[in-house]
Amino acid sequence: MENICLEGIVVSSLIYKEKSKIVYIYTKDGMVSFRALGSLNEKKGMLPLTTTMNRVSVIMTDKAFPRAIDYTLYDSYEYIKDDLKKTLFMQYILEIISKLPEDSPHERIYSLLKRVLELFKDYDGLMLTTLFMIKMTYSFGVAPILKKCVICNNPNTMYFSIRDGGALCGNHHKREVFNKDILDKIKEIYFIDIYNDSLDKIKGYDMIELFRIVNLYYSSHVDIYLKGASSLIF
Ligand SMILES: [Zn+2]
Repeated sequence: MENICLEGIVVSSLIYKEKSKIVYIYTKDGMVSFRALGSLNEKKGMLPLTTTMNRVSVIMTDKAFPRAIDYTLYDSYEYIKDDLKKTLFMQYILEIISKLPEDSPHERIYSLLKRVLELFKDYDGLMLTTLFMIKMTYSFGVAPILKKCVICNNPNTMYFSIRDGGALCGNHHKREVFNKDILDKIKEIYFIDIYNDSLDKIKGYDMIELFRIVNLYYSSHVDIYLKGASSLIF
Protein backbone atom coordinates (compact mmCIF):
# COMPACT_ATOMS: atom_id res chain seq x y z
CA MET A 1 0.00 0.00 0.00
CA GLU A 2 1.19 3.51 -0.82
CA ASN A 3 1.79 6.09 1.85
CA ILE A 4 0.13 9.48 1.75
CA CYS A 5 1.46 12.92 2.61
CA LEU A 6 -0.75 15.62 4.13
CA GLU A 7 -0.16 19.16 5.34
CA GLY A 8 -2.16 20.31 8.34
CA ILE A 9 -2.37 22.17 11.60
CA VAL A 10 -2.35 20.16 14.82
CA VAL A 11 -5.68 20.79 16.55
CA SER A 12 -5.42 18.33 19.43
CA SER A 13 -3.87 15.08 20.53
CA LEU A 14 -4.62 12.46 23.11
CA ILE A 15 -2.62 9.78 24.81
CA TYR A 16 -2.96 6.40 23.16
CA LYS A 17 -1.71 3.23 24.79
CA GLU A 18 1.35 3.80 26.90
CA LYS A 19 3.82 5.84 24.91
CA SER A 20 1.84 7.02 21.92
CA LYS A 21 -0.61 9.66 20.89
CA ILE A 22 -3.50 10.05 18.51
CA VAL A 23 -3.12 13.36 16.68
CA TYR A 24 -5.87 15.35 14.97
CA ILE A 25 -4.75 17.71 12.23
CA TYR A 26 -6.91 20.06 10.23
CA THR A 27 -6.12 19.92 6.52
CA LYS A 28 -7.61 21.37 3.34
CA ASP A 29 -9.72 18.21 3.16
CA GLY A 30 -10.96 18.42 6.75
CA MET A 31 -9.94 16.74 9.99
CA VAL A 32 -7.58 13.79 9.79
CA SER A 33 -6.39 11.63 12.68
CA PHE A 34 -3.39 9.34 12.87
CA ARG A 35 -1.35 7.45 15.43
CA ALA A 36 2.04 8.83 16.39
CA LEU A 37 3.51 5.65 17.82
CA GLY A 38 6.09 6.10 20.54
CA SER A 39 5.68 9.87 20.40
CA LEU A 40 5.71 10.23 24.20
CA ASN A 41 9.24 8.88 24.16
CA GLU A 42 11.27 12.08 23.87
CA LYS A 43 14.13 10.35 22.13
CA LYS A 44 11.96 9.71 19.10
CA GLY A 45 11.83 13.44 18.32
CA MET A 46 8.13 13.43 17.56
CA LEU A 47 7.05 16.11 20.01
CA PRO A 48 6.55 18.82 17.32
CA LEU A 49 4.22 16.49 15.46
CA THR A 50 1.90 16.23 18.45
CA THR A 51 2.01 19.86 19.62
CA THR A 52 -1.19 21.85 19.17
CA MET A 53 -1.01 24.73 16.67
CA ASN A 54 2.04 23.43 14.80
CA ARG A 55 1.81 23.29 11.03
CA VAL A 56 3.27 20.06 9.77
CA SER A 57 3.46 17.84 6.78
CA VAL A 58 3.00 14.18 7.68
CA ILE A 59 3.72 11.03 5.75
CA MET A 60 1.34 8.35 6.95
CA THR A 61 0.10 4.92 5.99
CA ASP A 62 -2.94 4.88 3.77
CA LYS A 63 -5.29 3.03 6.11
CA ALA A 64 -8.49 3.69 7.99
CA PHE A 65 -6.50 4.42 11.14
CA PRO A 66 -3.17 5.61 9.77
CA ARG A 67 0.19 5.66 11.47
CA ALA A 68 2.67 8.52 11.02
CA ILE A 69 5.90 7.43 9.39
CA ASP A 70 7.71 10.73 9.09
CA TYR A 71 6.98 14.44 9.24
CA THR A 72 8.32 17.93 8.59
CA LEU A 73 7.64 20.89 10.87
CA TYR A 74 6.71 23.95 8.79
CA ASP A 75 5.84 26.45 11.49
CA SER A 76 5.44 26.38 15.25
CA TYR A 77 4.08 29.95 15.62
CA GLU A 78 6.21 30.73 18.66
CA TYR A 79 4.92 34.32 18.68
CA ILE A 80 1.54 32.89 19.67
CA LYS A 81 2.80 30.30 22.13
CA ASP A 82 4.96 32.88 23.92
CA ASP A 83 1.89 35.02 24.62
CA LEU A 84 -0.77 33.65 26.97
CA LYS A 85 -3.62 35.78 25.60
CA LYS A 86 -2.81 34.94 21.99
CA THR A 87 -2.63 31.26 22.93
CA LEU A 88 -6.06 31.33 24.60
CA PHE A 89 -7.65 33.02 21.60
CA MET A 90 -5.97 30.61 19.20
CA GLN A 91 -7.30 27.69 21.25
CA TYR A 92 -10.78 29.17 20.91
CA ILE A 93 -10.33 29.30 17.13
CA LEU A 94 -9.14 25.68 17.11
CA GLU A 95 -12.19 24.72 19.17
CA ILE A 96 -14.39 26.13 16.41
CA ILE A 97 -12.34 24.25 13.81
CA SER A 98 -12.76 21.01 15.75
CA LYS A 99 -16.55 21.39 15.65
CA LEU A 100 -16.92 22.02 11.93
CA PRO A 101 -19.43 19.84 10.12
CA GLU A 102 -17.80 17.28 7.84
CA ASP A 103 -19.20 18.82 4.67
CA SER A 104 -17.75 22.29 5.33
CA PRO A 105 -15.72 24.12 2.63
CA HIS A 106 -12.44 22.94 4.17
CA GLU A 107 -10.08 24.27 1.53
CA ARG A 108 -11.34 27.81 2.05
CA ILE A 109 -11.33 27.45 5.84
CA TYR A 110 -7.84 25.97 5.90
CA SER A 111 -6.42 28.90 3.99
CA LEU A 112 -8.27 31.35 6.27
CA LEU A 113 -6.89 29.57 9.34
CA LYS A 114 -3.35 29.65 7.98
CA ARG A 115 -3.62 33.35 7.20
CA VAL A 116 -5.03 34.13 10.66
CA LEU A 117 -2.14 32.23 12.27
CA GLU A 118 0.29 34.45 10.33
CA LEU A 119 -1.58 37.61 11.30
CA PHE A 120 -1.18 36.79 15.00
CA LYS A 121 2.38 38.03 14.58
CA ASP A 122 1.18 41.63 14.18
CA TYR A 123 -2.32 41.80 15.66
CA ASP A 124 -3.97 40.83 18.92
CA GLY A 125 -5.99 37.73 19.55
CA LEU A 126 -9.28 39.43 20.33
CA MET A 127 -9.35 41.24 16.99
CA LEU A 128 -8.31 38.20 14.98
CA THR A 129 -10.74 35.85 16.70
CA THR A 130 -13.59 38.30 16.12
CA LEU A 131 -12.56 38.60 12.48
CA PHE A 132 -12.21 34.85 12.09
CA MET A 133 -15.68 34.24 13.55
CA ILE A 134 -17.32 36.91 11.38
CA LYS A 135 -15.66 35.46 8.26
CA MET A 136 -16.58 31.91 9.27
CA THR A 137 -20.33 32.66 9.30
CA TYR A 138 -20.09 32.14 5.55
CA SER A 139 -18.58 28.67 5.92
CA PHE A 140 -21.24 27.73 8.45
CA GLY A 141 -23.88 28.77 5.92
CA VAL A 142 -25.21 31.55 8.16
CA ALA A 143 -23.54 34.64 6.70
CA PRO A 144 -25.43 37.77 7.74
CA ILE A 145 -27.17 39.82 5.05
CA LEU A 146 -25.39 43.15 5.36
CA LYS A 147 -25.99 45.19 2.21
CA LYS A 148 -29.77 45.41 2.38
CA CYS A 149 -32.61 45.08 4.86
CA VAL A 150 -33.24 41.41 5.66
CA ILE A 151 -36.99 42.02 5.61
CA CYS A 152 -37.65 44.40 2.69
CA ASN A 153 -34.38 44.53 0.68
CA ASN A 154 -34.08 48.28 1.22
CA PRO A 155 -30.37 49.11 0.65
CA ASN A 156 -30.63 52.02 3.09
CA THR A 157 -29.72 50.06 6.20
CA MET A 158 -29.63 51.41 9.76
CA TYR A 159 -29.37 48.56 12.25
CA PHE A 160 -27.88 45.15 12.84
CA SER A 161 -30.12 42.41 14.17
CA ILE A 162 -28.76 39.12 15.51
CA ARG A 163 -32.13 37.44 15.45
CA ASP A 164 -32.94 38.49 11.87
CA GLY A 165 -29.42 37.59 10.73
CA GLY A 166 -28.32 40.91 9.28
CA ALA A 167 -29.17 44.50 8.50
CA LEU A 168 -32.50 46.27 8.96
CA CYS A 169 -33.73 49.52 7.43
CA GLY A 170 -35.29 52.44 9.30
CA ASN A 171 -38.77 51.01 8.79
CA HIS A 172 -37.89 47.76 10.49
CA HIS A 173 -36.36 48.93 13.72
CA LYS A 174 -36.79 46.51 16.62
CA ARG A 175 -36.03 46.74 20.27
CA GLU A 176 -32.97 44.52 20.48
CA VAL A 177 -31.04 45.78 17.44
CA PHE A 178 -27.56 47.32 17.31
CA ASN A 179 -26.97 50.74 15.76
CA LYS A 180 -25.52 51.68 12.38
CA ASP A 181 -22.02 52.05 13.81
CA ILE A 182 -22.00 48.35 14.76
CA LEU A 183 -23.56 47.39 11.44
CA ASP A 184 -20.85 49.28 9.53
CA LYS A 185 -18.06 47.71 11.55
CA ILE A 186 -19.39 44.19 11.06
CA LYS A 187 -19.72 44.92 7.35
CA GLU A 188 -16.17 46.28 7.15
CA ILE A 189 -14.77 43.18 8.89
CA TYR A 190 -16.89 40.76 6.91
CA PHE A 191 -15.74 42.17 3.56
CA ILE A 192 -12.11 42.96 4.39
CA ASP A 193 -9.64 41.09 2.19
CA ILE A 194 -7.29 39.56 4.75
CA TYR A 195 -4.86 38.42 2.06
CA ASN A 196 -4.29 41.87 0.52
CA ASP A 197 -5.72 44.64 2.73
CA SER A 198 -4.07 46.04 5.82
CA LEU A 199 -6.04 45.32 8.96
CA ASP A 200 -5.00 48.63 10.45
CA LYS A 201 -8.33 50.20 9.53
CA ILE A 202 -10.25 47.86 11.83
CA LYS A 203 -7.67 47.97 14.62
CA GLY A 204 -9.33 50.83 16.47
CA TYR A 205 -12.73 49.14 16.76
CA ASP A 206 -14.18 48.20 20.15
CA MET A 207 -13.48 44.51 19.70
CA ILE A 208 -14.85 43.51 23.09
CA GLU A 209 -18.31 44.57 21.99
CA LEU A 210 -17.97 43.02 18.53
CA PHE A 211 -16.66 39.77 20.03
CA ARG A 212 -19.70 39.63 22.33
CA ILE A 213 -22.02 40.27 19.41
CA VAL A 214 -20.46 37.63 17.17
CA ASN A 215 -20.64 35.08 20.00
CA LEU A 216 -24.33 35.87 20.48
CA TYR A 217 -24.75 35.52 16.73
CA TYR A 218 -23.15 32.07 16.88
CA SER A 219 -25.32 30.95 19.77
CA SER A 220 -28.45 31.77 17.83
CA HIS A 221 -27.40 30.71 14.30
CA VAL A 222 -24.56 28.17 14.44
CA ASP A 223 -25.26 24.69 15.65
CA ILE A 224 -22.17 24.27 17.84
CA TYR A 225 -21.61 24.85 21.51
CA LEU A 226 -18.66 27.09 22.38
CA LYS A 227 -17.58 27.54 25.94
CA GLY A 228 -15.30 30.09 27.53
CA ALA A 229 -15.94 33.14 25.32
CA SER A 230 -16.68 35.39 28.29
CA SER A 231 -13.50 34.39 30.11
CA LEU A 232 -11.49 35.66 27.13
CA ILE A 233 -12.69 39.25 27.46
CA PHE A 234 -12.87 39.90 31.22
ZN1 LIG B 1 -36.73 47.01 5.84
